[in-house]
Amino acid sequence: MKKVNIVKLQINDVLYNFNTTKKIFTYIVRGIRDYGDSILYEIECQECLNHDNCRLLVSQYDNDKRFKYVSMINEDEDDEQYYWHSLDDFFISKNDCEKAAYQKIKKYKETEIEELKTKLKSAQENLIELKLLIDGCV
Ligand SMILES: [Zn+2]
Repeated sequence: MKKVNIVKLQINDVLYNFNTTKKIFTYIVRGIRDYGDSILYEIECQECLNHDNCRLLVSQYDNDKRFKYVSMINEDEDDEQYYWHSLDDFFISKNDCEKAAYQKIKKYKETEIEELKTKLKSAQENLIELKLLIDGCV
C-alpha cells in the first residue's frame, strides 16, 4: 500500500458498515494497534441490542477509504455475532457506505433479472414444444 493512501484513524473516529438487515451500523474506534507496516483498529459496534457491544478488528483495504474485517475480539461462543458484523466493508463516510450498499443491491437485482429472463425464455420454449405436441395429438 502506498504510504500516501494510508488513512490513519484516531480514537473515537466513526466507521460505517451496511448490515444485512438493510441498515447502517455505526462503529467507534476504541483502540489502535500500530505494527509499523500495518495498523489494526479495534472498533466497537453501537447497534448491538441483546448482547454486549461487539468489538472487531479491522484494517484498511488496498489504497481505498474502506476497511476490512479481520476478526471479532469479544466474541461469545454461545451467542456468535460474527455474521452480523463482518459481511461488508467499513467506511469512513456514511455516504460512501450507502453508495456501496446500493451498488451491491443493484448488482444483485441485475443478476436476478438476468436469471428470470433465462427462466422466461426456457418456459416460452417449453410452451412452444407443448403446443406442437398438442397439435400432433389431433
Ligand atoms: Zn454485536
